[in-house]
Amino acid sequence: MINVEEIFHHSGAILKGHFLLASGVHSPIYWEKFRVLQYPNYTEQLCRLITDHFRKQRIQVVAGPTTGGIILAFEVARQLGVRGIFAEKTGAAERAFRRGFSINPGERVLIVDDILTTGSSIREVMAAVTNQGGIVIGIGVLVDRSEQKVEFGVPLFSCHRSITPTYPPQNCPLCAANIPLVKPSSSQKPPG
Ligand SMILES: [Zn+2]
Repeated sequence: MINVEEIFHHSGAILKGHFLLASGVHSPIYWEKFRVLQYPNYTEQLCRLITDHFRKQRIQVVAGPTTGGIILAFEVARQLGVRGIFAEKTGAAERAFRRGFSINPGERVLIVDDILTTGSSIREVMAAVTNQGGIVIGIGVLVDRSEQKVEFGVPLFSCHRSITPTYPPQNCPLCAANIPLVKPSSSQKPPG
């Protein structure tokens, strides 16, 4: 059995400080998943946990949100022997499958993502899947850091659960202590 937290720790992926997360909240911890995903060996081992969990679910497509979800969808799909696709931002809270990707009506889809904080990216992918008539069978994530369990209405599997505090900007003790806020590069939105 692999130790997920150890993999993140060894990769230097658990950053401590004062971070602005993609969801707009502040946190003393940032899980920099790309420090892990840069090692194909680690990515393969972590994805294997997701693959093994959903292996009997007759998954036909694996879908993830950009950017970490591209790598995870590829690797889980490779292990399951099915298609792997990704959904891109098309609006403030909207994603779509571009680049010729499509889901056939009734296809069984597994959604994968790296770090689960509020679940907004995953919900956007779920909507993109159901818009095309696909059926969301389950969700697999590397780390579930949500403070309150996020309910998606389908089974959720996380390789690791680590409840990590977040604060709304107006009520953040790190802001109050004048600690500089860092916007991690991997959560930066492209200009425009
Ligand atoms: Zn703050």
